[in-house]
Amino acid sequence: MDYRTRQNQLLQSEEISKCDVFLVTHLPNVRYLCGFTGSSGVLALAPSGSVFFTDGRYTEQARTEVAGARVVIVRKSPLAGVAEWLLRRAQRKSGLRVGIESEHLSVASRALLMRLLSPRLRLRNTAGVVERRRMVKDAEELARIRSAAKLGTSLLRAALPLVRPGTPETTLAAEMEYAARRGGAEEMSFPTIVAAGPRSALPHAHASANLVPRRGFVLFDFGVILAGYCSDMTRTVHVGRPTAEARRVYQAVLEAQLAAIAAVRPGVAVGEVDRAARNVLRGAGLARYFTHSTGHGVGLEIHEPPRVAAGQQERLQSGMVITVEPGVYLAKRGGVRIEDMVVVTGSGCEVLTSTSKELIVL
Ligand code: ZN
Ligand code: ZN
Repeated sequence: MDYRTRQNQLLQSEEISKCDVFLVTHLPNVRYLCGFTGSSGVLALAPSGSVFFTDGRYTEQARTEVAGARVVIVRKSPLAGVAEWLLRRAQRKSGLRVGIESEHLSVASRALLMRLLSPRLRLRNTAGVVERRRMVKDAEELARIRSAAKLGTSLLRAALPLVRPGTPETTLAAEMEYAARRGGAEEMSFPTIVAAGPRSALPHAHASANLVPRRGFVLFDFGVILAGYCSDMTRTVHVGRPTAEARRVYQAVLEAQLAAIAAVRPGVAVGEVDRAARNVLRGAGLARYFTHSTGHGVGLEIHEPPRVAAGQQERLQSGMVITVEPGVYLAKRGGVRIEDMVVVTGSGCEVLTSTSKELIVL
């Protein structure tokens, strides 16, 4: 990864060029800008040279991983170390403007900085500056995302043979997570969702002791982290003969998902992708059961910008990776969601999690 170029582009951006130093505290952003994968560290980005602060547990790791920044190991917290470093700089230049990631710095950390630094330095709030740059993936990131998506896609096969009445959701999740680890996953990108029968109507139900019923949907939403990058997909299968309603709901969600994927191309506002899915479900009289947004960006984080939601104006660009995941949830009966990850190409998009989406009946 070319961390120095990423840092330079950020330093030249309108918001950050108004700061003398920009403190990156959100760890995925730290990783994106200098390669550090540990759990404690602050990157101070400055035109004169960036400095990365971490604690003694990460001495060796920081020296191996961090590129494009000088590494400083601090005895106290990295933030206190940054404050001391800033104060030394403030002696040379008064009124130093220090940018912070206001969405990621806790109230307590902000208060600590204020106490240590004022009145000599001024904090400037910024929001989503690094995240906006992370939306468009470079070739190396795309290669990693492809690998993660490929491994992620293979996991459903591990669970399907056990999908039968009486199997606990956790057993199905365990098979998938074991296969993920055996396939090289660092971890799951979020707690695996397996939701059987009426629980499939809960959009974010983690796998529980609930058993697969004799007849009903089983929803799987799962992903892995591979080389730092996340995958995310959802498939819904049916146990026993589906009712006419179940078939109709499944077909409507599938058509909504295909319509949304067909809407993905450079220049289109993400809100239009959401609208494409919602229109199909409205036509089927199911729009009010589609209770979440159509998708989200995926990369170093499982949920990152852009938000593919109603009214969102962000325009798709080639190299963005988003999910397309409409769903319909009928309380006490069951739900269906179908989710793919797609990468925006020059003229449309490519599905990264491509497996059959015809209704599987077990
Ligand atoms: Zn998902
Ligand atoms: Zn998702």
